[in-house]
Amino acid sequence: MKQIDVVIQNPTGLHARPARVFVDTAKQFRSAVRVRHKEKQVNAKSLISLLTLGVEAGQSISIETDGEDEAQALETLSDLVHSGLGESLTDGSPTNGHPAQAPAAPSAAPPMPANTIRGIAGAPGIALGPVFQFRRATIAVQEGAGTPAEERARLTAALAEARTQLALLYEQTKDRAGVEEAAIFEVHRDLLDDPDLLANVHALIDGGQSAAQAWQRATEEQAAALAQLTDPLLAERTTDVRDVGERVLRVLTHAASTAPALPAEPFILIAKDLTPSETAALDPARVLGFCTAIGGPNAHTAILARALGLPAVVSAGSAVLELPDHSFAILDGGAGTLTATPDEATLAQARAAQEAITAKRAAAAAAAAEAAVTSDGHRVEVVANVGGVEDARKAAASGAEGVGLLRTEFLFLQREQPPSEDEQYAVYRDIVTAMQGHPVIVRTLDIGGDKPLPYLNLPAEENPFLGQRGIRLCLAHPDILREQLRAIFRAAAHGPLRIMFPMIADLQELRATRKIVDEIRAALDAPQVEIGIMIEVPAAALMADLFAPEIDFFSIGTNDLTQYTLAMDRTNPLVAAHADGLHPAVLRLIERTVQGAHAAGKWVGVCGELGSDPQAVPILIGLGVDELSVSAPAVPTVKAQIRGLALAECRERARQALHCATAAEVRQGAMHVEV
Ligand code: PEP
Ligand code: MG
Repeated sequence: MKQIDVVIQNPTGLHARPARVFVDTAKQFRSAVRVRHKEKQVNAKSLISLLTLGVEAGQSISIETDGEDEAQALETLSDLVHSGLGESLTDGSPTNGHPAQAPAAPSAAPPMPANTIRGIAGAPGIALGPVFQFRRATIAVQEGAGTPAEERARLTAALAEARTQLALLYEQTKDRAGVEEAAIFEVHRDLLDDPDLLANVHALIDGGQSAAQAWQRATEEQAAALAQLTDPLLAERTTDVRDVGERVLRVLTHAASTAPALPAEPFILIAKDLTPSETAALDPARVLGFCTAIGGPNAHTAILARALGLPAVVSAGSAVLELPDHSFAILDGGAGTLTATPDEATLAQARAAQEAITAKRAAAAAAAAEAAVTSDGHRVEVVANVGGVEDARKAAASGAEGVGLLRTEFLFLQREQPPSEDEQYAVYRDIVTAMQGHPVIVRTLDIGGDKPLPYLNLPAEENPFLGQRGIRLCLAHPDILREQLRAIFRAAAHGPLRIMFPMIADLQELRATRKIVDEIRAALDAPQVEIGIMIEVPAAALMADLFAPEIDFFSIGTNDLTQYTLAMDRTNPLVAAHADGLHPAVLRLIERTVQGAHAAGKWVGVCGELGSDPQAVPILIGLGVDELSVSAPAVPTVKAQIRGLALAECRERARQALHCATAAEVRQGAMHVEV
């Protein structure tokens, strides 16, 4: 056995993100890894157990390793702690230079009107309306259990279903709110595999309990242990454990939902607490804002509210739970207050403040429909990444000049068989119609490896990101591709539509796919559509000059291009934080792609996350990128930023960036960008 003492220097202690990095690394070793803090010692391969230690900044832990690779495990883990567990040791932000989302700053406290409950600012904005008390139904867990083997099988199936649900929720939240915000659902997925939690559940099942009873008891115990912690940031993780606990319990008990029926008219939602899943599911057309009795500004619920633009007050205390349904209230998310049954003067003041915010947003929305033209007359198209019909409607409303990436995989996930041609056709048609004449780029199914489809019976792969993904998978299962292409060509009759293939690495793949496209088009007697490929594999970027004559456009998927260029798995928290698309190597590949395309008279878009990174926008434009495809809510801001730039200046920035040594240097040079 080996042991070492180390000090946790992360500014917010061993909270969820660095703890997850620690656990993921510990799991890579065969040795047992334990962490001791004060009187308590836990299994370091269990995220929940590690969090319950409640290690705060500046406190020391003792790492113990025991087994065949104990020396290596100890060295790696202690180095990891010294290097900050994937975080900057000065401000706790991820080390990729992207600023971590700051909690909404409470505005200077004005004199409080009567009947005002003060909580903590969760997300800015003002909401006026009737309140609705959100009281969940409790899940009824029946007495009685099958044999332990039957109950274990039930649990395994429920965990698999929960994993699929969370994968979908991750993708949807990523599109609505961003990658950082969606990451909480990856943590939830990890909790499903937590060895200590599962060991407890299995022990209870072996003792004669049903899977539901055992799961409920074990998750409640873990949540209660977390709730005891004095560090508020760690105690806020209780909600995450309860959220995951309920998700699996709903599957096990076949309970459709624990959420109450919501009023038809817009309302201010009041709850003891909201889980991240519930927050992500709130319909902004009906929920004006929310106020929770507990929770904190750094909990994922508040982070999601900010990303979704939903005014929110958290930690307002139990008094808010006493407000009667339908009573009128003012929620001020910036000030962190909720005023019940306001008097006329307070109401008038709140209305005026709300109108001022609305007017500002309306001005931005009005400008959103205008073209994005730099001060020296260079036009850049700004389009949206969408995952479904609702996203497309939002994109059109936020001024998107088209859809630059339709991720069709949403249609294929979370089901037992692939969607039929008719079903796909209806969705593609509705998206094309929603975009009102603006072009829609439909990406053919990008699945495989890390995003398996149960009905395809895909073999497990050692390195799924280097395996049968994207177009490789479609060429191996051409029936799926053919069916999808038929649906796409039928939808093309309803508006301008383009087709794009993911993960192309060589010309042979493009030619084989085009052959299938031509056959389907001819069989349907459909008109020609523009065909493009994603540039996600460095090989394709380097060969852009040879691809260009055979396609109509390129769309650079910087998420994957970065992962493959830097050899950093985009889902591995140990390295993902360093996988920065502003790395000069990635920029050089983008430059090469643009050169190859423009020489052949073809255009280039960027549809990865880099396209909405304010520090990247001028550089991408300077490199000659013609179109940026970003999430719908980012369209107005990206357009506004472009209007404040000059092409000549962008070119100079791009030139400098190409000669930087690291992504950090590129970002330093871009620091003065005004956003
Ligand atoms: C990308 O790789 O940048 C991209 C847009 O595709 P996805 O994120 O869907 O893999
Ligand atoms: Mg990709």
